[in-house]
Amino acid sequence: MTRADLFREAEFAPGSVGDIFRLIRSGTATSRSALARHIGMAPSTISLRIDSLIRLGLVSEAGDERSRGGRRARSLEVSTGAGFVGAMDVGAHHVQVGIADLAGKLLVVEDVPVAIEDGPAAAAEALWAALRRLIATNALDDTRLLGVAIGLPAPIEYPSGRVVLPSFMPSWHNADLPGLFREFTSVPVVVENDANLIALAEQTMGDHSSDQLLAIKLGTRIGCGIVSDGRLHRGAGGAAGEISHTSVQGTSTISCVCGTPNCLESVASGGAIVARLSHLGYTVQTAADVVELGRGGDAQVVDILRSAGTSIGGVLASIVNFFNPRDVILGGAMSASAPLVAAIRAELFQRCLPLVGNDLDVRAARSPGDAGVRGAAHLILEEVLAPARIEQLVRELDDAMPA
Ligand SMILES: [Zn+2]
Repeated sequence: MTRADLFREAEFAPGSVGDIFRLIRSGTATSRSALARHIGMAPSTISLRIDSLIRLGLVSEAGDERSRGGRRARSLEVSTGAGFVGAMDVGAHHVQVGIADLAGKLLVVEDVPVAIEDGPAAAAEALWAALRRLIATNALDDTRLLGVAIGLPAPIEYPSGRVVLPSFMPSWHNADLPGLFREFTSVPVVVENDANLIALAEQTMGDHSSDQLLAIKLGTRIGCGIVSDGRLHRGAGGAAGEISHTSVQGTSTISCVCGTPNCLESVASGGAIVARLSHLGYTVQTAADVVELGRGGDAQVVDILRSAGTSIGGVLASIVNFFNPRDVILGGAMSASAPLVAAIRAELFQRCLPLVGNDLDVRAARSPGDAGVRGAAHLILEEVLAPARIEQLVRELDDAMPA
């Protein structure tokens, strides 16, 4: 299957085999009787379609599930052995590579060094090698890899996966990772902005998912992912949420390609703070180093973190007033800095309209250490397990059966 064959945003008929698989996978209905009730179709029809999913190896039926009226119904679940996906989150200094089963559960996540400054071709090779290694060391069958999703700290034109004018890593402009990965694999490979992946992870994790949220990635750079009415909002060219080039008060310490003097990224990002502290004689290289230094309570460092937080909070206040989200999620390495986060909250709530601020929850990502990888796994599973794709697999299976 090539990129062009991906079934994005596929339409599906209620009660179709693809729809039934979607309902089982999301946990909406997980027994034959619950599915029949939910869809409003004859149980015999539902059962035939479930049998197709079981024959495909996508669904298994096991255990007992308490059902209404005291009858016991066997519960349906996604067969985790049917395949797995690769999920990667590329940062400025390291890459997280993970493997998830078809239910979206992360089986393993590892940090691997990948020199992204060597350019996209070298990075693609290193990422693929890292994934292959992880597959082998976890004794997985590599023919069951169904797809790969990669998060990048840059604007991404989706669905082509093309990188558009990254503010750092200039050699990545126009990079086509899906194209580069075709050298190694024929499975679908999708690329997405890293903050968008945090937004997806937050929206889909846990019981209290929010349909109106902003996910702010505070790493070496600053990114923002938007979920509006339960859907990721990418904008016309993939640049939705690029708040990092908003002009702010303060002095830039790093250069930015955007051309805006004193943009948020060049003044208040992890990379900008590293540059400022280095200039002052501190030994820091990464956003994580800055967080650690801030924990020590050095007054000058805390001042710099507070001032960056105030700049970020000010920009967030404008977009929060405009967008009226329920949740603002803070992720990325810098979100572990207490002085930075306190200043962001203070500035944001001070400038928020009461109508917008009253029900606003500003909080840390639920799984800050691996939110990007979780979002990547979710994204590629939505692609490779899209209802239309499942319909096609069932048709292929039926065609292959002797009449
Ligand atoms: Zn900029």
